[in-house]
Amino acid sequence: MGQILQGKPVALALSQQLKERVADMRRQGKTPRLAIVRLGEAPDDIAYEKSAIKCCRDHEVDVQSIVLPAGTGEEQLLAHLQAVNDDKQTDGCLLLKPLPPGIRESKAAEALAPQKDVDGITPGSLAHLCGLDIAGFPPCTAQACLEILDHYQIDAAGKRAVIIGRSLVVGKPLAMLLLARNATVTVCHSKTKDLPAVVREADIVVAAMGRARLLGAEYFRPGQIVLDVGINFDDQGKMCGDVDFAQVEPIVAAITPVPGGVGAVTNRVLLKHVVDAAQRVLG
Ligand code: NAD
Repeated sequence: MGQILQGKPVALALSQQLKERVADMRRQGKTPRLAIVRLGEAPDDIAYEKSAIKCCRDHEVDVQSIVLPAGTGEEQLLAHLQAVNDDKQTDGCLLLKPLPPGIRESKAAEALAPQKDVDGITPGSLAHLCGLDIAGFPPCTAQACLEILDHYQIDAAGKRAVIIGRSLVVGKPLAMLLLARNATVTVCHSKTKDLPAVVREADIVVAAMGRARLLGAEYFRPGQIVLDVGINFDDQGKMCGDVDFAQVEPIVAAITPVPGGVGAVTNRVLLKHVVDAAQRVLG
């Protein structure tokens, strides 16, 4: 039986630290503040925005929603992002994605100041991830994986990490984060040959493919740590990860569940980044 790496205790521990840090900042006259920029009324965006607002309020962090019509043009969005950059009271900005057609995500990412880029979308944040001395943040989901490893005292140094998925949101940034922790990292993707053999070589496996329960018993061996980032829905509409939990949990040393694993930590990481950004302002 594998250890179940629940996200909730990680989130609670982060909450505790954040509440103390925010209280300390407020005593110094500074309240961290997040701006959330949403275009249109996509239900997923609204749900994420609601959970981020609740998380901010629970931790006495100020939050402002900037809601723009779905038909907003690129220039208008860039102007709003510039206003966020210029607003000295705002420490962090979350731009909900995907953006509506007609707005280039790369232009929006370039427009945001990296020191306020608490979800790690800007070129500056990418450079920061790659080790350059530039202000920026890793994407929250990638950082949430590290928070789970840290909480359960899993040291990545010297371990072989295999990440399945190479997106800019999860796979690539996580490769950089694990490399910085001295893991030996392999990034797999849809064109990787003999994926089961590559995954079986890993000490730490991160599944970030977005394929419901695709990774069954044949991908795993005893002793592995498995972080399942996937959020999918099966034929019955039930939320599940990329890993077939029922098959794999009895084999491996430890595994995150879905739901209740990485996803349970992500919004605390967002908040941590807002508080870190505010701390930089305080000096
Ligand atoms: P994406 O679609 O941008 O990238 C998926 C990656 O998986 C691609 O690099 C692709 O090459 C690879 N891939 C797809 N099928 C594969 C296969 N059969 N074999 C090998 N590689 C394959 O997805 P994303 O935005 O990185 O998200 C990945 C998953 O993580 C999704 O399920 C998403 O919902 C979830 N997610 C979770 C959180 C969270 O907070 N837990 C946050 C963001 C994304």
